[in-house]
Amino acid sequence: MNSQQARATSGYFPDSGDPRYRVRRYELKLDYRPEGNRLVGSARIEAVAAPGPDRLGEFVLDLAGLRVGRVRVDGRAAQHTHRGGRLRIRPAVPPAPGAEFTVEVRWSGKPQPVRSPWGGIGWEETEDGALVAAQPVGAPSWFPCNDRPSDKAAYLISLTVPSGYTVVLGGRLLARAAHASTTTWVYEQPAPTPSYLVGLSIGSYRAVRLDESPAAVPQLGYVPARLAARFESDFGRQPEMMRLFQELFGPYPFGEYTVVVVDEELDVPVEAQGLATFGVNHLDGARGWERLVAHELAHQWFGNSVTVADWQHIWLNEGFAKYAEWLWSERSGGPAAHTLAEAAHRQLSSLPQDLVLADPGRRLMFDDRVYQRGGLTVHALRRVLGDDTFFRLLRDWTDTHRHSTVTTADFTAAATRWAGRPLDDFFTAWLTEPALPPLPGGD
Ligand SMILES: [Zn+2]
Repeated sequence: MNSQQARATSGYFPDSGDPRYRVRRYELKLDYRPEGNRLVGSARIEAVAAPGPDRLGEFVLDLAGLRVGRVRVDGRAAQHTHRGGRLRIRPAVPPAPGAEFTVEVRWSGKPQPVRSPWGGIGWEETEDGALVAAQPVGAPSWFPCNDRPSDKAAYLISLTVPSGYTVVLGGRLLARAAHASTTTWVYEQPAPTPSYLVGLSIGSYRAVRLDESPAAVPQLGYVPARLAARFESDFGRQPEMMRLFQELFGPYPFGEYTVVVVDEELDVPVEAQGLATFGVNHLDGARGWERLVAHELAHQWFGNSVTVADWQHIWLNEGFAKYAEWLWSERSGGPAAHTLAEAAHRQLSSLPQDLVLADPGRRLMFDDRVYQRGGLTVHALRRVLGDDTFFRLLRDWTDTHRHSTVTTADFTAAATRWAGRPLDDFFTAWLTEPALPPLPGGD
């Protein structure tokens, strides 16, 4: 297996995605009726067959629990079967290796969350609408996709709902057209986006502008009207945070950043492309959850623009997002990153040390210890490299791999280049040994 193929297979989720092709662009036309939870969809998917000796006689799209209607490949009806969340398609004329082809799929039904070790993920009905938080394998709950993080594509999504609902998606709102009793919302996300990062919210929201100058990254909030004042207070420093992160991590990777507060309690906020979803429990009017505002914003660089090639590298998302919380604290008048790191280190020292950060396994991939030790690893590296080299490395990392996918090996190689000396012992201790190393002394 060459390295390209190794990147293509999804070790933690062998039943998700298909490395035999990649998608360039999804065009989704959806109609959703919250009453009855009824979704009707059609997709036009522009894809490219993988290089290699063979034509693409068969390929798979992930789609869970919905009824598939017509399937066409390059305009011709295609044979297909749909079992266990896998839509197997056999084109009448198999695309040649490396050739572009187009898939059209129609589907309908009552979307439900996909079962996972972390409970239901993906499409979820709310009191008054719906939301999608798909990480890591929930995207097939609402549209057919090549559901692996390394397959990033552009999206054009048109969603029709009864008038009165607001539709929030990541990306630019191109159009909002009212019909007799429905309204169609059209959003475009041109940046390469893995299916798990397509987030969605349908509900009753008031729009709140956060950015205060035309030069700033456009930042919009959607929030239940009764919570607008609280939101403006809790997210009031986000534009400042956006400026700081651009200074530390490089230019913001997308055209805009949208935050939606859904009218429900959520265990944790969730990042999507150009979008973050918070629960009402994350608003307290006293900026009590500001570290999570920083965490979700940092994911736009770490996770969303620079995406893990496979889930085993999840620390590259969560470790950096955690560290961004500490950097924001340090730079906004709170405790220094080192103080927060020492506290995290003390806490981790008292917990079982049975987790390998570079490959925690599917069961532990969202364990809080991955976040904490990930943040500690980044901080330890900063102590070893010194601030100047460390922050150059961060900007080089987000620039070199902008809108691309990465592995842990890519990161350790980059850090070693910037260090100008081998860091094997350092990375072995922090990434592949379960025992927690001491924090480096630093200066
Ligand atoms: Zn996170």
